[in-house]
Amino acid sequence: MAPTEAGIHDNCLPSHLGLVQAEVENALKKQAQAAAAASTEQPALPNTHAVKESFQRKLYPQGAEVFREGQAGRYAYLIERGRVEVSARRRGKRYTIATLGPGDLFGEMALLDRRVRSATATVLDETEVVAISRDQLQRKMKTADPVLDLLVKVILHRFRSTLRHLLESENLAPDVQSETGGLRAVGEATRELAITQIKMAEELRAALERDEFRVFYQPIVRLRDGQTAGLEALIRWQRPAHGLVPPAGFLSLSEDTGLICPIGRWVLERACADLAGFQKRFAAAAPGSPSLFVSVNVSAQQLQDPEQVAALGEVVERSGIDPAQIKLEITEGLLIDNPEAASVALEGLKRLGVKLAIDDFGTGYSSLSYLRRYPIDTVKIDRSFVEAMRKDHGSLQIVRAITQLAQTLGMDVVAEGVERQEDIRHLQEFGCHYAQGYLFSKPAPFRQMLNFLGKRIRN
Ligand code: C2E
Ligand code: CA
Ligand code: CA
Repeated sequence: MAPTEAGIHDNCLPSHLGLVQAEVENALKKQAQAAAAASTEQPALPNTHAVKESFQRKLYPQGAEVFREGQAGRYAYLIERGRVEVSARRRGKRYTIATLGPGDLFGEMALLDRRVRSATATVLDETEVVAISRDQLQRKMKTADPVLDLLVKVILHRFRSTLRHLLESENLAPDVQSETGGLRAVGEATRELAITQIKMAEELRAALERDEFRVFYQPIVRLRDGQTAGLEALIRWQRPAHGLVPPAGFLSLSEDTGLICPIGRWVLERACADLAGFQKRFAAAAPGSPSLFVSVNVSAQQLQDPEQVAALGEVVERSGIDPAQIKLEITEGLLIDNPEAASVALEGLKRLGVKLAIDDFGTGYSSLSYLRRYPIDTVKIDRSFVEAMRKDHGSLQIVRAITQLAQTLGMDVVAEGVERQEDIRHLQEFGCHYAQGYLFSKPAPFRQMLNFLGKRIRN
């Protein structure tokens, strides 16, 4: 390992080193300790003086290094005046990551994740900075909103992997490798992304208070008689100035920030309240038909914490809806990552009397015998299988086998993503009981779905 590149290796582990992870980590630890001991990060500060909250002000002459790759990071710096270049070395060549000016913050990454510096900061013009120590920053992060703390870590992780990828890439176009090309753009894009996500997390939190979430409903149809058996509740965000945002646009941030728990509870509450209306309309339109159920997606996070599970139970009880008409859809992830917590949560929910479905079956671990360990009532075959079933015989056989085995084990089967009449033909042939998809209806708001229920039965 070339000693001059030591600083980059901590964050940008080149795969060709051939070292196993533990060795690399060990080497890095030693390197960080040595770097900490030899740190030159404390320049002479003739005019250091206390500023608010005892942050230090430091003055650097032109050409000085504020810090160097490989050193232990002790401070983050906010530029008051002057200019600083942040650069990194790769294969003997130095790349400029960013040129920063007044108001810019640098050096914060090594403070946040306790790694050694992955870049060198050099003063271009005489520069005055405010130095924030690791302790100060950590105190700030502790008192900051936990959402912000988490977000910073997530974004930092993303930034580091993107940077690593770029630095390791053999295929960087020459112009991207030039002085201020790609890396700087990545830095700026990441900063933009960080700001956008932090703002959006705040907006998401406010969205709950401002009642900006909506629940759309998609019918689940009984194939025997073509009647609606239940409705899946699917969240949307009516985001001001953005319009209707689908779940893909905000659910992962909700998961990262833990907001998924209050949001998920809200969906359940809304869906239970709406179900009463749907059932009433449906009973009038199709007298004698079995009562409608509602299916609600539940994130693994909501089931990992017993308090959250209890909160779901309270929502069900308060709603006055027969729990047997409420189905909670979970994905296999929880069962695989945390089988004990899953067992406890699922047994608890079953005691309430709700039904449980495994969503997106076929995309994960996908073993029906494994599922038998849990009190699962329904298996939802992922739409990718139904789609593939149109094209190849193998997928057709898989859908047939899943359907038959699930039913032998006493579980219902819902085929997702049914878009064509021919899908129905196959599913009926396999004895599949339920289907859901655009063929019947796209997810629609409450009123539209009420009309759908009424019309469909009259036709
Ligand atoms: P999912 O649970 O698998 O829901 C079905 C998704 O497939 C829905 O997307 C639905 O609009 C779409 N879909 C239904 N039929 C068809 C079809 O025939 N063709 C195609 N191409 N797509 C079809 P949507 O509403 O965008 O939801 C995406 C995912 O977001 C859901 O997938 C679910 O995992 C998650 N989600 C939605 N609402 C909630 C919620 O309240 N809580 C949680 N935790 N997750 C939710
Ligand atoms: Ca679902
Ligand atoms: Ca699904």
